Amino acid sequence: MNGEQVVRVAVPVPVRRLFDYLAPADTPAGVRVQVPFGRGRAVGVVVEAGVEPGVDTARLKPVTRVLDQRPLLPEDTAALVSWAARYYRHPPGEAFQHAIPGLLRGGRQAAAPGEPAWRLTAAGRGADPAALAARAPRQAAVLARLREAARPLTATALAEEDGARARWRDALARLEGKGLVERAGPAAPEPVGPTEPGPALNAAQAAAVEAVRGALDRHGTFLLHGVTGSGKTEVYLHLVQAVLATGRQALVLVPEIGLTPQLVDRFRRRLGAAVGVLHSGLAEGERLAAWLAAAEGRLPVVIGTRSAVFTPLARPGLVVVDEEHDPALKQQEGFRYSARDLAILRAARADIPVVLGSGTPSLELLALAEQGRARLLELPERAGAARPPRLELVDLRNQPLDAHLAPRLRQAAARHLAAGRQVLLFLNRRGFAPVLMCHACGWQADCPRCDTHLTLHRAEARLRCHHCGTDRPAPAACPACGAGELLALGAGTQRIEEQLAALFPGHEVVRIDRDSTRRRGALEAALERARAGRGQILLGTQMLAKGHHFPNVTLVGVVDADQGLFSADFRGPERMAQLILQVAGRAGRGEHPGEVLIQTHHPDHPLLQALITEGYDAFARRLMAERRAAALPPYAHMVLLRAEAAAREAPAAFLARAAALAGRGGPEVTVMGPVPAPMERRAGRWRAQLLLQSSRRGPLQRLLDVLLPALEADPAARRVRWSVDVDPQEMF
Ligand code: ADP
Ligand code: ZN
Ligand code: ZN
Repeated sequence: MNGEQVVRVAVPVPVRRLFDYLAPADTPAGVRVQVPFGRGRAVGVVVEAGVEPGVDTARLKPVTRVLDQRPLLPEDTAALVSWAARYYRHPPGEAFQHAIPGLLRGGRQAAAPGEPAWRLTAAGRGADPAALAARAPRQAAVLARLREAARPLTATALAEEDGARARWRDALARLEGKGLVERAGPAAPEPVGPTEPGPALNAAQAAAVEAVRGALDRHGTFLLHGVTGSGKTEVYLHLVQAVLATGRQALVLVPEIGLTPQLVDRFRRRLGAAVGVLHSGLAEGERLAAWLAAAEGRLPVVIGTRSAVFTPLARPGLVVVDEEHDPALKQQEGFRYSARDLAILRAARADIPVVLGSGTPSLELLALAEQGRARLLELPERAGAARPPRLELVDLRNQPLDAHLAPRLRQAAARHLAAGRQVLLFLNRRGFAPVLMCHACGWQADCPRCDTHLTLHRAEARLRCHHCGTDRPAPAACPACGAGELLALGAGTQRIEEQLAALFPGHEVVRIDRDSTRRRGALEAALERARAGRGQILLGTQMLAKGHHFPNVTLVGVVDADQGLFSADFRGPERMAQLILQVAGRAGRGEHPGEVLIQTHHPDHPLLQALITEGYDAFARRLMAERRAAALPPYAHMVLLRAEAAAREAPAAFLARAAALAGRGGPEVTVMGPVPAPMERRAGRWRAQLLLQSSRRGPLQRLLDVLLPALEADPAARRVRWSVDVDPQEMF
C-alpha cells in the first residue's frame, strides 16, 4: 500500500452496490475515476476515499486513471446522491450518472476551474457571421453561438457537439486577434440587464415573504398555498432576491420543462441576475456550462426540472419547489426518486429554507403542516385585479350532447366567444375515439399486447395503443365478420376539435396535446397562437392545463370530470381535483372574471360536491380523514414491488417468494399481494405487484435491506423484470 489507498466507487452498472479499487493516496472523494470493469472499462465516481483496507486488498484492482484533480461533486451533493440511491434502492453508479451532466459521464474533462469564458465585443456584435462562414466556418459558428447564448461561453461549452475543444479555443483566439471577442473572465458575472420593478406585494404576500426572510439562516419547510394567480411567483422572486443579497444561490424546481421559459424570463427580467436553466431538453454543452457555473458559485439562480435537485451549489441559500403536488416531480422509471422530497432533505442538510408552492397542495405536505413540520403560508386571494372563477357542475345525464358538450356549456361558450373572449376546453384523452366497435357483431379493436382498447386516430386512419405504441392501419371493415359499419365510440380531442369547428364556425380551434405538438416548435407555436388570441377556442389535454397564462380566457370547460373519480389508484380523486382546479385556474386571469363549467354524470358525488361547494381545503380535509381511516399515505408509507414477464405465472410466482421473505419483516410491515397490476397485460408482458406498507419508514427500509439482496440472489428473479418503488406515486 505504498502511496495507495482503497476507494469505494459508484460504477454505472445496474447493481445495487459500490466497488472497491486501489487509487493513489491523494485521490479525494467526489472525483471521477476510470476503472477496469468486467472485460472493459467504466467511468465511476469515488464515493468514499481512505476506506479501511479489508483482508483481500491484494485482490483489488487499481483504478486506471483519475479524471479530476478536484472533486467534481462537492461533499453535500455526493452525499445527497448516495442517500437517494440508498433510500430509493437504485444502483448507486446509475444514480451518480443521473446526477451529473451527460458530457461528464464519459470521462471527458470538465472545464478546468477558471477556464475563460468569452463574449462578443461591440465590433463582434456588429460583425456578420455569414461573411466569415466560407473561410472560417468555426469562427462564424462562434459568433453565432455567442449571439444566441447572450452570455459568455467557454471553449468547453462550444465543443459540446464535436468535442474539438482545441479547435474552438483556436477560433476564439483568432477572433480575439480580430477584436471581435474578449475574455469575460472566469468569475465575471454574466451580463445583467436592468431590473424591472414588480408590483407592490399585498398583505398576504408580504407576510409570506417576511416569514421566510426572517428565517433565511436556518432550515425551515414552508408550504406556500395559493391558487393560480394568487402571486406565489412574486413571493419566490422576493425571497430569491433576499437570498442573492446575502451572496447565496437559489435553486428553483418546476415539474415540467414547458414551464421553464416563461419563468426564467420573468426571473431574469426581475432579478437582473444570471438565471441558469437545467433540464433534459438542453444541448449538452449548455447544460454542462450551467452546471459548472452553479457548482462554482457563478450562477446565482438555477431553475430546473427533477434532476436539477442534484445540482451542486457553492453557496446554497434557498430551495423553491413550484407546483409541489405535481406527480411529474417523482421520476416513474429507473431511478424512482421524488425531487420534492429530496429538495426538502437537501434544504434540511444545508440548513436553509425550502419553500413549496401549490394551489392544490399534496396531502403529504398538508400532513406535514398538520404535524407542525411545515409552516403553512396562505395566499387566500388572487393578486392584482383578477377575481376567482366561479365553479359549477353541469349534469350530463340525459342531455343532448354536441361536440360532447351539454347545452349549458355550449351556450356559455357561444356567449363568451360572442363577447370576444377565449374559451378553454379540457379533455384528458387524445386521439379521435377511444373505442372502435363493429355495429354488426360487437367486435372491438383491442391492443393485442395490452389490456386496453386501441385509440382511433382518424385523420391518419390509424389505430394506436397509448400504452405500448402499437400502431396499425384502421380497418375499413370488421376483421371478425366483414361488416362495413364500424362505430367510433367516445371522444378524444381530435374528434371534439372537428365538432367544435362545425359548432362554432368562424372561430379557430387550437388543439394542444401530445399528437398536435410532436413536431419541434409546434407547442410554442400553438401557445403563441393561443396567447395572441388568434385561436379563440383552446382545446387540450393536461399539457394545456399547466402554468400557461392566457389572460383573455374567461370560460373553462372540463369536458369529462368522471375520468379520475373512479380510478383504481387511491390518489385518483386527489389528482382529479388538482387537475380540475389547475385547469380552472386558466380562467379569468386577466381583468375579466372567469367561469368554470365541469361536466359530469355524477353531479351528486360527495367528493365532487365538496370540491365545488366548499373548495379544495375542505375537499382535502375529507380525503385526509379517509386516508387516515384507511391507513393510507400520508398516514402510512409504502413500497411497491413490481414484476413483469412474458410468461403469465412468473411475476406472481416471483412476488409470492418476495412476500414470503417479507413476511419476516416484523409486525410493523403489512404485506399485501401479490396481485395483478391494474393493467395486467401491457406491451405483451404480464404484470403483478406486491405492496409493503408500514406506519413508519424505518421498518420498511430495514426490510428492504434484507429483502432486496435475497431477491437479487433468487434464481426466480431471472425469469422476470422487477423493480422497487419507494414512496410510489402511481399504483399501476
Ligand atoms: P402564481 O405564481 O400564484 O400563479 P403570480 O405570481 O404569477 O401568481 O401572479 C399572478 C399575476 O398577478 C401576475 O401577472 C403578477 O404579476 C400579478 N401579481 C402578483 N402579485 C401582485 C400584486 N401584489 N399586485 C398586483 N399584481 C400582482
Ligand atoms: Zn363485426
Ligand atoms: Zn398496447
